[in-house]
Amino acid sequence: MSQAELILSAELSFAPAQQIEQQQQQLLRRHVQYVAQHSAFYRRRCQQLGIDLARIGSYDDLTQLPLTTKDDLERHGEHNGDEFLCVDQQQISDICLTSGTTGLPVAFMQSGQDLDRLAFNEQLAFVTAGLSADDRVLIAAAIDRCFMAGMAYFLGLKQIGATAIRGGSSSVAVVAQLVQRFHPSAMVGVPTMLLALASTLREQGIDPQCCGVKKLICIGEPVRQQNLELSALGERLQQTWQAQIFGTYASTEMATTFVDCPEGCGGHVSPQLMMVEVVDDQGLRVPHGTAGEVVATPLQVTGMPLLRFCTGDIATLYTEPCNCGRNSWRLGPVLGRKNQMLKYRGTTVYPPAIFAVLQEIEQVAAFYIEVFDDYALSDRIRVVVGSACPELTAHHIEERLAARIRVKPQVVIEDVDSVCRKTIQQDKRKPVTFFDYRTECTAFGS
Ligand SMILES: [Zn+2]
Repeated sequence: MSQAELILSAELSFAPAQQIEQQQQQLLRRHVQYVAQHSAFYRRRCQQLGIDLARIGSYDDLTQLPLTTKDDLERHGEHNGDEFLCVDQQQISDICLTSGTTGLPVAFMQSGQDLDRLAFNEQLAFVTAGLSADDRVLIAAAIDRCFMAGMAYFLGLKQIGATAIRGGSSSVAVVAQLVQRFHPSAMVGVPTMLLALASTLREQGIDPQCCGVKKLICIGEPVRQQNLELSALGERLQQTWQAQIFGTYASTEMATTFVDCPEGCGGHVSPQLMMVEVVDDQGLRVPHGTAGEVVATPLQVTGMPLLRFCTGDIATLYTEPCNCGRNSWRLGPVLGRKNQMLKYRGTTVYPPAIFAVLQEIEQVAAFYIEVFDDYALSDRIRVVVGSACPELTAHHIEERLAARIRVKPQVVIEDVDSVCRKTIQQDKRKPVTFFDYRTECTAFGS
């Protein structure tokens, strides 16, 4: 084996901060040493910049290293010599594709050890959300198509001894049948899909609140606001299912999960699996408690290890101990994508803040927003809402947006079907609700 054995202590998050730090430093040194030995990309880049990787041994030392971007992964990945790949072809157990919300999906090669690490990551995440061997968990997420997430949930559930029900995400009707037949105690899925599932059950005369689902592990969409309280979407889910809501945040590149504990004050990350930083536009660290771009250094990865990977996601890091007893760091909800930041008359806002206000309005059945750069200093934002309710006016929505987030974009109301025709795209996991027509931006996010 090309790297030392995995160090996986489920209790490390509860250790004193100093002990966590020491353990992380040991793992970081090992990680950097491994990268220096095996990664053509980092060897070359550090040589060019005159950086001695052997000198990187602490969280603060990380700032001496350059950031790694998605662009680096695309340019130097599978199509160009696989410069990130650190294991032999025979050691690759699984190929994952990034979800490709921006740009092309990137292939991530997983060694057998990486899959063990992934299983441990998800085990810790489920334990943090209070799941145990007694639980039956319906996975309403894709387990195929080279996605990492569905497989990770399955591995994690096996690890804690729970029962997995692999419902997938392609058919709400199939998942609804599985709920009725197997009565899961918890579900993992995208919030909007879990709401659609509840509607489907109601149409069949079944009350979702009587299905026995006690916990919802939410993926892909934030269920909390910046102040860490549940968002309208989170609250609607909670009321619909009468279940406890847990937000999670993860990505293929990070191969590590942030997950809410029952205190619900940010997603805990396992200290032996990742070092996390938050940086500003210039790539400089911001003080803890300030929003910025999440930068991840996943530890103990062997297939395609990364140093200081820029996620493009904006969130806030909290380092104080949590009331649940863990001293692991927490991350607030993702406020938006860095490249989706909107400028509106001196205010900056991310699309999810607009979505959150729309989700508060019951008569809003579907929506998307479009952004144009007609003016130099301010973006033009157009909010298209699908509603079947004749009483709902564009003016009402505009006023509500202005009151909540100090942004007053143009609002247009259309019939629900025409909005859905634009947002429901066959090849996407989630409805596409953000269309960026600004000249400098070519990527369409979700
Ligand atoms: Zn906690």
